[in-house]
Amino acid sequence: MTHRLADMTWPEAAAMPASAPVAIVPLGACEQHGNGMVLRTDTTRAEVVADLVAERLAPRVVVTPTIPIGVSEHHMGFPGTLTLSPLTLQQLVYELVTSLHRHGWRKVYVLTGHGGNNAAVDVAVSRLRGDLGDLHIAWSGLTPVVSDIAAELSSSRVRGHSCEIETAQAMYVDPTLVRTDALVRGSAQLTDLDPAGRLARSHPGIQFPQGYDSLSATGNLGDPTLATTEAGERLVLTAVERIAAFLEGFIDLPDRLEKP
Ligand SMILES: [Zn+2]
Repeated sequence: MTHRLADMTWPEAAAMPASAPVAIVPLGACEQHGNGMVLRTDTTRAEVVADLVAERLAPRVVVTPTIPIGVSEHHMGFPGTLTLSPLTLQQLVYELVTSLHRHGWRKVYVLTGHGGNNAAVDVAVSRLRGDLGDLHIAWSGLTPVVSDIAAELSSSRVRGHSCEIETAQAMYVDPTLVRTDALVRGSAQLTDLDPAGRLARSHPGIQFPQGYDSLSATGNLGDPTLATTEAGERLVLTAVERIAAFLEGFIDLPDRLEKP
């Protein structure tokens, strides 16, 4: 039996909440990833990790279709990027999880491959916890659950979007995401960018959001030319292991009881 909800018939789906009490909702993006990675990179990373987690925990987890567009306003300076507003994504996650709840799921894990979705997911999760008193809902990004390994494997002073860490993950989950010959190091000194971009980068911890076109001429940070499939394998498989370990405990949790 597949773990993918959309590949089931409705009679198959009807039996699922009893045997597969956790539903994973993968979220992606369609946005620029520098000169050498394709727009669906975050979507595919989230989808593959969700599939691997479900395989590891089979048959106790189902996976919904991956949402292929996220909140990418900060990448709109680069062609091909599509964006939802934070309000739209928040509502989309809210309604998708509410649908799962109506069919009997009481444990949901939202996995976002794109950090730009975080604020919208956080608000949606807060609303869902308030409105659905018997729902257990947890969420994470992908790289944040392996931040210790990312720090160990990267050498760039400034890293993040489409750096060696993300590119390594992409190489491992789907080599067709990466145009190896086109990978270039992100703007190293960032001196060619506008003053607001320079100010934003030079004071860590202070929130001063800028479009990526004022942070990096190529759209990426760090040095994706340093990425290796081996590093990607370690990052991805460790993320799968850690998320699966959380979900083992999540599955065993008693139901969250509605407050009278
Ligand atoms: Zn990405």
